[in-house]
Amino acid sequence: MKNKLYQSLFLGITSAIAASASYALITPRNVEIQASVSSLATPSIYEETANFLGHTAELEQPIRPRKIDHVIQSGENLSSIFPLYGLDNNTLDKITKANEIGARFADLAVDKILKIELDKEYNLESLVYKKDLVHTLIASKNGDAFDVRMDSKELEETETLAQGTITSSLSNDGQKAGLSPSIINKLADKIFAWDIDFNKDLQVDDKFTVIYEQSIVDGQRFDTGEVLAAEFIISGKSYSAVRYKDKEGNVEYYSPQGKNIRKIRKTFLRSPIEFARVSSHFNLRRKHPILNRIRAHRGVDYAARSGTPIQTVGDGKIVFRGRKGGYGNVVIVQHDDKKYKSLYAHMSKFNGKFKIGSKVKQGDVVGYVGKSGLATGPHLHYEFLVSGTHKNPLTVKLPRTEPKKNKAFIARFKAQTQPYLNRLNESSTDTAEIKAEALFDKQVKKL
Ligand SMILES: [Zn+2]
Repeated sequence: MKNKLYQSLFLGITSAIAASASYALITPRNVEIQASVSSLATPSIYEETANFLGHTAELEQPIRPRKIDHVIQSGENLSSIFPLYGLDNNTLDKITKANEIGARFADLAVDKILKIELDKEYNLESLVYKKDLVHTLIASKNGDAFDVRMDSKELEETETLAQGTITSSLSNDGQKAGLSPSIINKLADKIFAWDIDFNKDLQVDDKFTVIYEQSIVDGQRFDTGEVLAAEFIISGKSYSAVRYKDKEGNVEYYSPQGKNIRKIRKTFLRSPIEFARVSSHFNLRRKHPILNRIRAHRGVDYAARSGTPIQTVGDGKIVFRGRKGGYGNVVIVQHDDKKYKSLYAHMSKFNGKFKIGSKVKQGDVVGYVGKSGLATGPHLHYEFLVSGTHKNPLTVKLPRTEPKKNKAFIARFKAQTQPYLNRLNESSTDTAEIKAEALFDKQVKKL
């Protein structure tokens, strides 16, 4: 709305200039704008503006405006804008090369305003570009050169609590509760990625509470920072996380009991391929698609294009790498905790970097999807073994390694996180009731 206003004002000025022909600074762009004015703008507004400006022009001399609010159009930059106002490359260089900040004038956003002020000789006096609520780029003439600086307004950091109930999705209900998309992404992709499958687990009436950083400038929300603490109540079960900065300055999310969530979930990845579709589930009584008889399917198949990288799900050592009958090209990783093994079959090729006995880190590519062995098409056949027994990789309870905790850690952790955890707990009586109910259910089950 605001931009429209500026634009029509600017268009008005342009046409006023054109009307007082003697001084029109006509460039192809102006001509184009004029054409669009006559076809788009309602005559009344157009004429009123033109008349008003034209009238002023009659009283004084027909003049070019010295104060211009230029609305930045797509594809524009200073070197295309300057000639529109009779400014030369020399002036441009003086600004963009004045200092490190000068170069930031290269980064102009469409629809924002560039304020151009000219002196009596129509040389540039100052250039002001408000990048956002906080930052303003300013170039002002100082003798033969320009002083270029970035003004920054002071931000007020606040902590905000948002709360909501799921009616459709985290994305919708989160935004309704005032959460920014960036905060919602952090919750879903980073903090709770391993514990909650937001597409599958989230149900209507589930609840969330989020405490997050929020910077305010001139009373307006400017930017959201980090999530400080959050809780989801999913089907009565509570999942909480709190941000904690350790002595070395590492920032991670912890459970209220002081477990590092990332380290917990890092032991094993749930899937060796990112964003792949499961084409065949773990099934001990499956009819084999090629052999056409009941044969246990002791793993999960992921449909993926030939050549898709396959990652080892956890740290360990390659104990097998070669051909294995119907499995084709296979890699088996023995994980650090010797209880666990993972197997990847039907590969088109191996990663040449690793041999039998090579150490691998979680996420290392051990090979590529193919259809070697007995396979109808390219896919990954993935198996996960616990103490020698095949388990369903999609549902197996994965081990959680806990970081070492000492008294100093506990004291520091409590001091830093308790205020947020208290706020989470106190924030909602609903939540407290649900917790009490869940606890009650548990106790009843025990009896
Ligand atoms: Zn399979």
